Amino acid sequence: MDCLIRNAAAVMTGRTGPDARAPGPDIRIRGTRIAAMGRLSPEPGERMLDATDCVVYPGWINTHHHLFQSLLKGIPAGIDLPLLPWLSAVPVAYRRFVGEETLRLAATIGIAELLLSGCTTVADHHYAYWPDMGFDGSAVLFEVAERFGVRFVLMRGGATRVREIDVDPPPEARPETLDGMLASIAADVARFHQSDGDAMRRIVMAPTTPTWSVHPHELPQFAAAARRLGIRMHSHLSETADYVHFCRDVHGCTPLEFVARHDWVGPDVFFAHLVHMDPAEVRLMAETRTGMAHCPQSNCRLGSGIAPAPALARLGGRVSLGVDGAASNEAADMIAETHMAWLVHRARDGAAVTTVEEVIAWGTAGGATVLGLDRVGTLAPGMAADLMVYGLDHPRYAGLHDPAIAPVVGGGQAQVRWGFCNGRLVVEDGRIPGLDLARLAAEARAAVAKMVM
Ligand SMILES: [Zn+2]
Repeated sequence: MDCLIRNAAAVMTGRTGPDARAPGPDIRIRGTRIAAMGRLSPEPGERMLDATDCVVYPGWINTHHHLFQSLLKGIPAGIDLPLLPWLSAVPVAYRRFVGEETLRLAATIGIAELLLSGCTTVADHHYAYWPDMGFDGSAVLFEVAERFGVRFVLMRGGATRVREIDVDPPPEARPETLDGMLASIAADVARFHQSDGDAMRRIVMAPTTPTWSVHPHELPQFAAAARRLGIRMHSHLSETADYVHFCRDVHGCTPLEFVARHDWVGPDVFFAHLVHMDPAEVRLMAETRTGMAHCPQSNCRLGSGIAPAPALARLGGRVSLGVDGAASNEAADMIAETHMAWLVHRARDGAAVTTVEEVIAWGTAGGATVLGLDRVGTLAPGMAADLMVYGLDHPRYAGLHDPAIAPVVGGGQAQVRWGFCNGRLVVEDGRIPGLDLARLAAEARAAVAKMVM
């Protein structure tokens, strides 16, 4: 579509410093790209969108999620548990309900919520794979993402072993073999992976945890396979103090030292959480350009702690934002996540520790960096047309002196008026074309009613 977005009250670029705000009020989209920004005159044949009293941001890039958990929100047995017992009580116990139709419905719910919060790139850490599972989970996720028109990065998780505390896992949580898992990931790369900087489909090598999901000697084999296939690497790390104690007790080192010894650091690697790092680990992250998917809402919900994201950013490290699965973050929504990222560090370290511009950069350009999508994540001519136009006519924003910061400082539900991904209109007048939200809610209620344990 050729389109001119006119008269925005502010345009945030996704960069930090003096370039955080674009000088002009207009953006021209030609095909899949941003053609021009500034003060622009209409050209024949282009559709005009009046963004008066609106602000424009890059589409959010969510770098850590578990879409299959979108039907596992607020499960009473896990609502007040910390991570390890929560894992047993919720994601492991409910794995038996992950079938083809529930995965399709959960992914539809999760991507709809993300899109209506301004997100255009979804990196999903999907680990519900087991031997002889009988359906193609990877294909289901790509199919749902394509229907919405969002960029989709399948971070292909899974395990070659089960944790000792999960003594009798359901068949759907049985581990794969190393060879089976690597063959399946290579097949997904051949079927889905695109390497260009504005790829709509990517695969990432992502065993669920390096500590409990695989054997240590397998980690270099996963890393070598990823580098041979030309794909990135991702996992959970140092989410709770238990991770650190486990690594110190069993491996005699910190979690980051452990993964570094097994070829799992570098600019092609990023980890979710990293809540518990000592200063040497933060330095190693920055020096090796290993990335962080910062998930502050999930970390609050599970009582895990506050990740040193600002400290990593100060060292020039790579910080991005992820909502994590909806079973440990009932609002898997990027506006809520950025709002929390802006606030939570201030509660501990003072009001100057995070700026709105910085958390916007984490949620946009930072995500593009860790995923290696170099034509996505910032608003500039030549970049992919992934952007969101937020209306500011909700009473929440009335009285605000700086409209540019409104979605992040206001929190709550974003008022997306129009959303573009790869130049395609994916949200129009606040609605996702072709999606019946009332029907989706009814299907979710019916699915939850069947999950009686
Ligand atoms: Zn996670």
